[in-house]
Amino acid sequence: MNFVSFEGKVVLITGAGNGLGKSHALMFARLGARVVVNDYGTTAKGEGADKSPADAVVDEIKSLGGEAVANADSVEDGARLVETAMDAFGRIDIVVNNAGFLRDTSFHKMSESDWFDIINVHLNGAFMVNRAAWPLLREQNFGRIVNTASAAGIYGNFGQVNYSSAKLALHGMTQALAIEGQKRNILVNTVAPAAASRLTDTVISREQTAALRPEYVSPLVGYLCSEESSQSGGLFEAGAGWFGKLRWERSRGAALKGEITPDDIAKNIDAISDFSDATHPRNIAEAFAPFGEAMGAAVAAR
Ligand code: NAD
Repeated sequence: MNFVSFEGKVVLITGAGNGLGKSHALMFARLGARVVVNDYGTTAKGEGADKSPADAVVDEIKSLGGEAVANADSVEDGARLVETAMDAFGRIDIVVNNAGFLRDTSFHKMSESDWFDIINVHLNGAFMVNRAAWPLLREQNFGRIVNTASAAGIYGNFGQVNYSSAKLALHGMTQALAIEGQKRNILVNTVAPAAASRLTDTVISREQTAALRPEYVSPLVGYLCSEESSQSGGLFEAGAGWFGKLRWERSRGAALKGEITPDDIAKNIDAISDFSDATHPRNIAEAFAPFGEAMGAAVAAR
């Protein structure tokens, strides 16, 4: 008997016909969830549409004795995905936003469609799915959402201005949704995975492929979506069996007085950027504390 179980839960996983999403789907099904396997069936560059990847994963889950239904709509039609969950299983508890593709190119060559197609599938797709599921999660006072980000979003990466932007924006969505979901037991987190898949085919070696199994990422997604988790608003990284969590770090900073000029910033830039006595603000209230102190000092000086 597993401690983490999804008996009675319905999970919707987008882009679950391949790679990480497929691995998540099989894990959830093994742990008792009824699974909506969404996949639009595109190439790694987002071309075409094909129902067979979603159907194949549903067949695999059924052959293992699990329950699953396929949906081959695009995440941009998020409401249709949630409708499939409601029609098939009458509820939805967990959403894993995982669908996506790449359109890598250096910024000076990036077309408008390279930009908008990537924003649409990763960011707007997750918005459309989350927005459709949200009222149902609120109503039942239970929900778990995982948004899939990327190291490219956290750290930036050459040739991925579109993708980096979409992926970091997803964590912005996570952080704000986590606050809004708090009172309704809706936990929202971001996972930045590293795993061998169609998307990494051209950049990693065969040995790396063996070590970077998608199955090494899915357990974190599973835990974050469990009843047992109390994590929310978090940004996690996972790959090859390593798991970590990120947080914001802010320098102690420098409070300047009087009429402040760019020259004053120049004189103080080392102090402003000095992380030796750093803080880790966890929310807007903590982040605003130094402004409050500076305002207090300014008022006292008058
Ligand atoms: P993958 O190509 O194996 O799987 C992505 C799936 O999304 C595909 O099956 C594709 O058909 C589907 N898809 C594409 N557009 C869709 C749409 N509009 N609606 C529904 N489904 C759609 O890729 P993967 O590596 O498993 O990637 C999964 C997620 O993880 C992506 O969001 C990716 O950006 C992210 N990611 C992956 C890695 C990695 O190392 N593999 C690293 C960082 C982030």
